[in-house]
Amino acid sequence: MDLIADAKRIEPEIIRTRRTLHQHPELAYHEVETSKLVADRLEFLGIKVRRNVGGTGVLGVLKGAKAGRVVALRADMDGLPVQETSDVRFRSKVDGVMHACGHDTHIAMLLGAARLLSERRENLYGTVKFLFQPAEEHGGRGGAMPMIEDGVMKDPKVDFVFCLHIEATRKSGEFGVREGAIAAAPDTFKVRILGKGGHGSAPHETVDPIYVAAHVILALQGVSARMIDPVRPFVITVGAVHSGTKENIIPDVATLDGTIRTLDEATRKLAKRRVEEVAKGVCRTFGASAEVEFEKDAYPVTVNDPKTTEKVVAVLKRIPETRVRRVDAMLGGEDFSRFLQKAPGTFYFLGSRNPEKGCIYPNHSSKFKVDEDVLKFGAASLAMLAFEFGNPRGSSREH
Ligand SMILES: [Zn+2]
Ligand SMILES: [Zn+2]
Repeated sequence: MDLIADAKRIEPEIIRTRRTLHQHPELAYHEVETSKLVADRLEFLGIKVRRNVGGTGVLGVLKGAKAGRVVALRADMDGLPVQETSDVRFRSKVDGVMHACGHDTHIAMLLGAARLLSERRENLYGTVKFLFQPAEEHGGRGGAMPMIEDGVMKDPKVDFVFCLHIEATRKSGEFGVREGAIAAAPDTFKVRILGKGGHGSAPHETVDPIYVAAHVILALQGVSARMIDPVRPFVITVGAVHSGTKENIIPDVATLDGTIRTLDEATRKLAKRRVEEVAKGVCRTFGASAEVEFEKDAYPVTVNDPKTTEKVVAVLKRIPETRVRRVDAMLGGEDFSRFLQKAPGTFYFLGSRNPEKGCIYPNHSSKFKVDEDVLKFGAASLAMLAFEFGNPRGSSREH
């Protein structure tokens, strides 16, 4: 009945699943074979399955024998457009696509947790919902929003929601947890600078949008340096500049693509307003005009419920051979935030950095490599959270 011992027993299966997925990564919204593997495996475990949820998502529902709360566990399933250059034997077989963020490990760990829980159905309180979501890396509507619209957080209503992310820069076997904001709202913007084209030898007859763009890029950093409270994390990056065709032609238009990252809604709102004002103001100064557009449906800030997360820390501390660390927030985005807007819960990390095994490359690197020895602990942690939070009396030590 020892859950950790059982997690160790099924470790080979977890690793095998992970490697199969790693060899066959699929991009956002195209997780067809991946979700088939997931759904088939859940059905094999006797878990009720709904396929094609919000597109390529899968929902599994496991009812415990005892009455209790509804706990949802989430794994994301998409790979990235990266050509793998790692030295593992089970390298990606798909050209230009790689599980470079470790979502293959998330699926394998959650399927492991599903097995551990389905074998304990008799002692399980409440209901566990397994959310296998598409398109976490996509941004915008992502994969969480379509699944929520498809009803996964209702009927029965989810009381708590959890997910774990593998983190290649954290020490192997170390859990990273934080109460409150843990990941940023990633707001993408586009500035279209409208000038007036002409001959490169006669700039006075034109409004040069490239020259103006240079000023806008510099001025936008002033939003960070001079307009946002320095104790509020904020970053602005212009990651793409497009304009022009030839050295002696002044073009009509220049476009800038950028992103801002914030950890609270007030700063987010203020920053978006300032970006627009600065871009338009600078353009006006030089006789150009600007259209500023923020992407609709950007991911919200990922906020861990403090009370729930405190309890998560206590649960994670029970897992031997691992450690729990309080961590700083990151300015990356996560659409798990959308589930957290529907129910209290926790987004936490599991470290997999192990220099002895060459696991030293960060998430999204083409050399990204995971210390697979930690996967069993990840699977166990998810199962333990379902057990713990499903129990209406709080602490079930039966596992
Ligand atoms: Zn990622
Ligand atoms: Zn990820």
